[in-house]
Amino acid sequence: MRQLIAGNWKMNGLVADSLSLARAVADAAPGLACDLLVCPPATVIRPVAEALAGSVVAVGGQDCHTHANGAHTGDVSAAMLRDAGAAWVILGHSERRTDHGETDTLVRAKVAAAVGAGLTPIVCVGELEAERLAGREQEVVGRQIRGSLPEDFAGVVAYEPVWAIGTGRTPTEADVAAMHGFIRAELVAHLGERGQSVRILYGGSVKPSNAAALMAVPEVGGALVGGASLVAADFLAIARAT
Ligand code: 13P
Repeated sequence: MRQLIAGNWKMNGLVADSLSLARAVADAAPGLACDLLVCPPATVIRPVAEALAGSVVAVGGQDCHTHANGAHTGDVSAAMLRDAGAAWVILGHSERRTDHGETDTLVRAKVAAAVGAGLTPIVCVGELEAERLAGREQEVVGRQIRGSLPEDFAGVVAYEPVWAIGTGRTPTEADVAAMHGFIRAELVAHLGERGQSVRILYGGSVKPSNAAALMAVPEVGGALVGGASLVAADFLAIARAT
């Protein structure tokens, strides 16, 4: 399966800089051996999707509500993301779990809403530093997988150790291999044979200098890139490392 390199732009990007970043990615995309996705903030999904129409670069949102519409001030539904031009959505990112108290149960409901609206979900899981230091990382990630993914899940999982996000620190390749192997086994236990075909991305301080080593780890199906996805040259260098 081709690897997927996904950029999570987080809360960054006004229209002008978002368009130039998206166009730079699209210009280089045809020569790359991986699938490419950019996830801009909700306010620029439409212009970015319009700029990328006809390119191989897909567009996604960073969150969605569980309901299609209604009295939910400030929220954005999966149908609205789809209407704006998104085909994917990141769900359960650790920043959502921390900043907005998102639980596995809520993430699972969001997955159902996303799939119902025709979006492919990328569900994020990952342990805190204290949990890893206590040797509990598999227990935590296993619980997140069983709690956040419906039994008919057809999407992508992103393993993002919380302590590696935006810190410049990454797990060792052996630790990534152990966790991705564990996640694969959990997916098969939870989803049956379908669990074999779920791509498992690694996320957390992926940059051009470490991308080749991380992308070569068994069961790593690509990367979910934060900070480095805001610089076209860095994002493309990561994509070339697949
Ligand atoms: P960084 O690449 O900035 O560490 O962020 C990772 C991330 O949270 C992607 O979703």
